[in-house]
Amino acid sequence: MDNAFVSKLLTWYETNKRELPWRNERDPYKVWISEIILQQTRVAQGWNYYLRFIERFPDLQSVYEGGEQEVLKYWQGLGYYTRARNIYAGAVYIVEEYNGVFPSTYQEILKIKGVGTYTAAAIASFAFRRPHAVIDGNVLRIFARIHGIYDPIDNSLGKNKISELANSLIPNDIPHLFNQALMDFGAIHCSPQLPKCSDCCFSLSCYANLHYEQSALPVKGHKTKTRNRFFYYLCIENKDYIYLQKRNSSDIWQGLYEFPLWETSAPLSDIYSDLTPYLQNLLDDIPFEIIHASHVYKHVLSHQIITAVFIRLKIPHAVKQTNFLYVHRHNLADYPVSRLMEKFLNEYLELHST
Ligand code: SF4
Repeated sequence: MDNAFVSKLLTWYETNKRELPWRNERDPYKVWISEIILQQTRVAQGWNYYLRFIERFPDLQSVYEGGEQEVLKYWQGLGYYTRARNIYAGAVYIVEEYNGVFPSTYQEILKIKGVGTYTAAAIASFAFRRPHAVIDGNVLRIFARIHGIYDPIDNSLGKNKISELANSLIPNDIPHLFNQALMDFGAIHCSPQLPKCSDCCFSLSCYANLHYEQSALPVKGHKTKTRNRFFYYLCIENKDYIYLQKRNSSDIWQGLYEFPLWETSAPLSDIYSDLTPYLQNLLDDIPFEIIHASHVYKHVLSHQIITAVFIRLKIPHAVKQTNFLYVHRHNLADYPVSRLMEKFLNEYLELHST
């Protein structure tokens, strides 16, 4: 690994780089937003969200003034809503601590909520031209393969080794190009399943290629267990009004709105009879009529599979639950909701539009 690696990589990048809306961006705010979107979203999906988000929130001040709920609304459908809450918290932090001027050093950027080493390196190098190598899954894979590094990349041993290597190579004058080239090379050339080894500028020196170890590298240590969850959403209707509540639990979708929820550890064996005592208690003995149970919605998150059913029920008058919001059906779309709720609401609102 030496300058030859950098020059081959940059030559490859020159002819193969992806055109992305944030590619030549030097505004640290916009780099930050694009990197937060890309943390858990693929480029193809994130592209339009980025453009829409930047149109509504062109700068830090607009996020600060827009408020958390508005930011969440614009994040709707992207998932991993902690990212949106962190953007709002980050904007508040920068406005209050730095007078609205984005901090420019890696260490300062790292203090912004939700910004880890990868994102801090991306902002520092793309916006401020500071030589910090981005270490994401693409970069880990490239170095593990080329160098034959068998330390698991999901623990600090493998990560630190590769981080040291990448940081020893990054050119001081063009750190942004080095980082972008590595990311693109990993995303479109040295991909996880189908690396294009026969047409690769590193094929004669790459360990994985010479030893036929492409599918063995990189090594991952442990697998996270998937958790099954069962959600019964209660769509409680009183004439044209429906109840919503804000989700406060910190596991998923914190700050988003949803129908009152009964979560169970196993599927109900009989929805109607199992729900009745729960509803009697929740509704303070107001009479109710269950009018419909939806089909089952399967919603897959990383490490969680949610099985959800939406149960519509009618009540004759309002409930005295202080944590419920009493929302007119026409106003449901004003509230930021999860992708799962959105799927149901699309069907539900269509049903009621006729
Ligand atoms: S030779 Fe294959 S495994 Fe090695 S860097 Fe190139 S594409 Fe990746």
